[in-house]
Amino acid sequence: MSTFSAPKGTYDLLPPDSATYLAVREAMAAPLRRAGYGYAETPGFENVELFSRGVGESTDIVTKEMYTLTTKGGDHLALRPEGTASVLRAALQAHLHRAGNLPVKLWYSGSFYRYERPQAGRYRHFSQVGAEAIGAEDPALDAELIILAADSYRALGLTGVRLLLNSLGDRECRPAYRAALQEFLRALDLDEDTRARIEINPLRVLDDKRESVQRQLTGAPMMRDHLCQACKEYHERVRELLTAADIAFEDDPKLVRGLDYYTRTTFEFVHGGLGSQSALGGGGRYDGLSEMIGGPALPSVGWGLGVDRTVLALRSEGIELDLPAATEVFAVPLGEEAARTLFSVVTGLRRSGIAADLAYGGKGLKAAMKAANRSGARYALVAGERDLAEGVIQLKDLGSGEQRPVPVEALVTEVTGLLARTGTPNG
Ligand code: AMP
Repeated sequence: MSTFSAPKGTYDLLPPDSATYLAVREAMAAPLRRAGYGYAETPGFENVELFSRGVGESTDIVTKEMYTLTTKGGDHLALRPEGTASVLRAALQAHLHRAGNLPVKLWYSGSFYRYERPQAGRYRHFSQVGAEAIGAEDPALDAELIILAADSYRALGLTGVRLLLNSLGDRECRPAYRAALQEFLRALDLDEDTRARIEINPLRVLDDKRESVQRQLTGAPMMRDHLCQACKEYHERVRELLTAADIAFEDDPKLVRGLDYYTRTTFEFVHGGLGSQSALGGGGRYDGLSEMIGGPALPSVGWGLGVDRTVLALRSEGIELDLPAATEVFAVPLGEEAARTLFSVVTGLRRSGIAADLAYGGKGLKAAMKAANRSGARYALVAGERDLAEGVIQLKDLGSGEQRPVPVEALVTEVTGLLARTGTPNG
């Protein structure tokens, strides 16, 4: 019989590694919840047009990387390649912006799909936690989101994360800058694709990773020298707020990012331990996006942080997260009657909030004790016929090896008290 493998560019999350992924998501979500962001969940697919309009016709994501499909009913759909367009679509559809309480703050967590060339840190199915603050133009909001992301990396213990910051200007100052940049780029020696890009989205040429291109970009006009007064002041305020919050950043005048909708503040968190990738997460302000997808003017700011790459960054820094033990108490029944009694003890422990498990399948003492040790439990409950005849269960401390009998009816209280006093080993 043949066996199946996960599709190219994807991988499965399984224990024990999957616990780290959950902890990373939680570390990203916790600061958002504390800052008034509410959880949003949107479908895994949307109308193709939402992304071609919302992400940009000239982006790699839309032209090369979308998984598209036509349904039996004739709808053209795409698996979501990113979260912002969907979340904004959902907020507009539910009229959240009309409830009179702007900004609408939302966060999300989920799977995204891009048909990319797979390599370490770059997958066709990956996971992001994202946040969007919709409907307010305030440098403090840009700063808030950057601080929340930086705090989640800090909480995970990462020390090698760098924050790159730039401003892309706005409707006032970008057009003149764009024209100046195009004029500069047209005079360079570039291949046909790049020449085409000059006409569609010249800022993205700045982001070209090739040395042959970068070499020619010396002396290119930079947005930061062309910002209008309002954009300059806005950006300065974001920088001040970050500094006051003790967030280190580097000004990167070439940071443009791969999506078309950004205006003013853009940022990226990068890390050196991700192989040929460096982006851990990023985002920025997207004041024009709502109008691009048919909504009213709603200046907004948001970010998306990659979960997969954050796990790689943790690994590269040798960080083991302090994860609470999956099992605190493991029951070892010797014989059928003991299995029945311990099954109900385990149920009682679980109902009292204690993580408990049991040796199943009629294992003998040796195999069952091995399972108890493997589970990472702090205590084992061992019972055979003689114990039950005396109305007790042996409570064994798996760390010290000490063992003593405890009356069956006192067990839940006894174990709850012990765990509360000592705490869980890792938690
Ligand atoms: P983006 O939406 O392109 O700004 O990506 C935001 C973050 O999502 C990146 O910084 C990565 O951490 C993550 N990411 C994007 N694309 C991929 C991918 N193909 N595989 C793994 N992570 C990705």
